[in-house]
Amino acid sequence: MLLSQLGEFGLIDLIRKRFSDISTGRMQGIGDDCAVIPCDGKHSLVVTADMSVEDIHFLRDAASPYLLGRKTLATNLSDVASMGAAPVATFLSIALPRDISAPWAEAFVEGYHSLSAEFGVPLLGGDTTSSPDKIVVSITAVGRAADDTIKYRHTARPGDRIFVTGTLGDSARGLLDIRQGRTDSEFAAIHHDPVPRVREGRWLGLRPEVHAMMDLSDGLASDLVHILEASDVAAEIELENIPTRTSVELAVTGGEDYELLLTAEGDAADGLVRAYGEQFGILLREIGRIASGSPAIHWKRQGQEIAPDWHGFRHF
Ligand code: ADP
Ligand code: MG
Repeated sequence: MLLSQLGEFGLIDLIRKRFSDISTGRMQGIGDDCAVIPCDGKHSLVVTADMSVEDIHFLRDAASPYLLGRKTLATNLSDVASMGAAPVATFLSIALPRDISAPWAEAFVEGYHSLSAEFGVPLLGGDTTSSPDKIVVSITAVGRAADDTIKYRHTARPGDRIFVTGTLGDSARGLLDIRQGRTDSEFAAIHHDPVPRVREGRWLGLRPEVHAMMDLSDGLASDLVHILEASDVAAEIELENIPTRTSVELAVTGGEDYELLLTAEGDAADGLVRAYGEQFGILLREIGRIASGSPAIHWKRQGQEIAPDWHGFRHF
């Protein structure tokens, strides 16, 4: 059987099942944006690992090393934020081909440092090796939060309203621009330098009316399904309400937006939107609601259900 038949999530599931005989105790592992490790009875550490591989996640000639350093860190800080946690530290492992120059490596470190400094997150370790051909960057990020403020994927409930923290599809449109030679467009800049919603995630974590949360890395059509499957609920999404500056299809299937996707108690959501607006100067955008039913997204246009063939990025 080819790996493409198993798929990325099939392989993760195989790993999860193989390890089900070893107790995790009170720790929670595979399935959320971060693992959760209780520490003092009231707080937990959250831990995520994310890898970026040349020619899969980035092209060496299209990405400046400085921005690559920022982006690889941003994807990890985004996973910490999506749990409602504050980042504590990161670990950086890099494998570099021998033909990479010292200035390239210095610029990468400068970029990684600049985003670390913006959020005051120290680098505590990692690993450095040579690589036969491609650049590989693997980052582990650790965060911390009070146990009752940590947000998961399995806690969405029927009646919840669904929100996102910003416009969707900008990064995917940026990637199209880059491929078509418009490397200096506004969207290309967003694709190369996404802003992780670190403060927003922490703030949303502290709000009890927020039930489930994750970050959008593979596109809404693929990512929302993880919340639905974990919570055993369905979703109705109003396509006209998806905030986007590009096509709805790119907004829904495009990856790497690193916005937060959350569900909130229906009655309390108006207050949440108001408070969020006062705090951050922009509105949470409501895109639909959680309903009871088997895990599936019901896409609606002007109230009518449509059946598009949408999916997010596939590795295998
Ligand atoms: P994200 O996009 O939020 O980083 P992923 O889709 O990469 O999440 O992973 C989904 C879940 O599967 C996460 O909980 C992650 O820790 C887990 N996971 C992914 N790859 C592996 C692996 N090789 N071994 C164990 N767990 C994994
Ligand atoms: Mg994630």
